[in-house]
Amino acid sequence: MKFTVTAGHGGRDPGAVAADGTTEAAIVTELRDIVAGKLRGLGHAVRTDGGLLTNLPLVHALTLVPGADLAIELHCNASESRAARGVEVVSLHAQVEQARTIARKIAHVLETPVRGAGGWIDQRQSARGRLGFVRLGGLVVECFFLSNPEELAKYEARKWRVATSIVEAITGGGAA
Ligand SMILES: [Zn+2]
Repeated sequence: MKFTVTAGHGGRDPGAVAADGTTEAAIVTELRDIVAGKLRGLGHAVRTDGGLLTNLPLVHALTLVPGADLAIELHCNASESRAARGVEVVSLHAQVEQARTIARKIAHVLETPVRGAGGWIDQRQSARGRLGFVRLGGLVVECFFLSNPEELAKYEARKWRVATSIVEAITGGGAA
């Protein structure tokens, strides 16, 4: 299959910043590279928004959605409440099942709840408003809450398993 895997934010935009200074852009760029490497290892074609550890701005990511069988953009969620946690995937209604599968598998690895409607957020109901990446048919994956120190620590310890869960979800491999 042809996949597009992009990292949220990038360029001069760090995205959310954790209490310890870790930036969302750095986390999702690393995760993107791990996911892309695993997909290529399985023989899939993968386009990313930048070479290793490079995260090009969103405008570039948008150009990579058309032509892909599946396009995902990786993000970390953030909230003023440190207790907020969980996984959610924003997509158009047509991709609700795919979105839920990704959310469920990440949530399983991080032992955290799925948010929204079974892990799916209908972008029409999203406070984020209309996301260009989603409007083009891509899925925006909010992997965990960067603002929650426990969830961040869990992610750091399990990021390779998170990457595997994403790969299984989008290739249909592994246990559901
Ligand atoms: Zn983000």
